[in-house]
Amino acid sequence: MSLPRAAVIVTGTEVLGGWVSDANGPWLAQRLGALGVQHVSTTVVGDRPEDLRAALEHTRDQGLELVVTSGGLGPTEDDLTAQVVGEFAARPIALDPELEGRIWKIIEPMSRRWKGISQDAVREANRKQALVPEGAEILEPVGTAPGLVVPPTDDDPDRPPTPTVVVLPGPPPELQPMWATAEGSPGLRAAIAGATELHESTLRLFGIPESELARTLRDARESGIAVDDFEITTCMRRGELEVVSRWSPEQEAAGLAFEAFVADRHGDVLFSPDGRTVDELVLDGLRDRGWTVSTAESCTGGLLAGRLTGWAGSSDVVEGGIVSYSNAVKVAALGVDPALLEAHGAVSAEVAAAMAAGARERLGTDVAISTTGIAGPGGGTEQKPVGTVFVAVSSGGGTLTRHLKLPGDRGRVRDMTTTAALHMTRRLLAGESDPA
Ligand code: ATP
Ligand code: MG
Repeated sequence: MSLPRAAVIVTGTEVLGGWVSDANGPWLAQRLGALGVQHVSTTVVGDRPEDLRAALEHTRDQGLELVVTSGGLGPTEDDLTAQVVGEFAARPIALDPELEGRIWKIIEPMSRRWKGISQDAVREANRKQALVPEGAEILEPVGTAPGLVVPPTDDDPDRPPTPTVVVLPGPPPELQPMWATAEGSPGLRAAIAGATELHESTLRLFGIPESELARTLRDARESGIAVDDFEITTCMRRGELEVVSRWSPEQEAAGLAFEAFVADRHGDVLFSPDGRTVDELVLDGLRDRGWTVSTAESCTGGLLAGRLTGWAGSSDVVEGGIVSYSNAVKVAALGVDPALLEAHGAVSAEVAAAMAAGARERLGTDVAISTTGIAGPGGGTEQKPVGTVFVAVSSGGGTLTRHLKLPGDRGRVRDMTTTAALHMTRRLLAGESDPA
């Protein structure tokens, strides 16, 4: 049986113009995929009703089962999604007085805090957000705007019926929880009847090119594993190779056989068989041992500490970090010996090791991670070209350093430095003897 098909339509002149980058299209694509729906396209349109209408009409001609829209549910004049979707599905919109009351309960306390605004205008805006196309399900507001699930309409014998349209607000913190509600709604369930929820499994590998995995895939196929029966996506991200497989219950045996094949062939570089990222593995590894960590960063300027503290609960193990960009701060804050800087330069294995040891001692942590390097575009020399980076990890067992030669621009060098430093720490925590 063929999979139900869906399109995403993102609205917003700010997204179309590039002022805000689209977070909703990719997020919804992932969610649709996990539901077993075939996501055929994401279209971005500005806040112009005729463009939204045209995008919707196109999905109808394609015979899609489902459309998800984001944005345009606000109280202002240019927020017109509910009206346009109502017209598209030939469902007259009408005021839902109970919904109006529920929205008013959210808006009223806010409106009292705004000084000098017209209460009539607030009421008018409230009213606008409570307009519901006939027969639509309401998704309760997360912010102030309600979402909708608008059922299909079959009003033209020469065309397929309109797709079911799930209408969601633009702000990602509102859209994401509302989608969770939409997933369980009768209207969406009816639209995607026949879809089988897929199991998603992620493997992460470090230190292997994508082409190598393409070869593994061919070999797995030749050895009789049905790799073409389910979906495998490989992608290189932050220097790591991510292999995402999605399978239905009937495809499980093939999926597991494929993953076992990868594990067998690439065991040495497969660092995460369960999908956890290197950041999570480092934090979990520290937590398991009851260890704390600190950072001493030069070329990454705090990015490493930012990455570690980006995870909820990281305060269990992260004590803090020092951004020691200048030599003076390396000496004063980390106790790096000026003679070492003089003899080897700030970008050297010796200084990286002294920075890590200094952070470990001064911040009183079990482990400390340091970075120093030339991110470019200037500052390179013949001996130490742009991309020359040293990372060090200091622990009770001593200090390990590593010399990296990273390609790419400043942003990439800095980002890859944090990834490499985290992998070094992960190996140390995993008890792998040679972290280089
Ligand atoms: P409201 O106006 O009530 O906040 P809305 O549904 O009308 O809700 P928009 O006006 O379209 O939402 O967007 C509000 C803000 O949400 C935007 O300025 C932007 O910051 C953010 N936003 C909207 N769409 C996206 C998107 N696709 N990706 C990331 N952020 C978005
Ligand atoms: Mg808008």
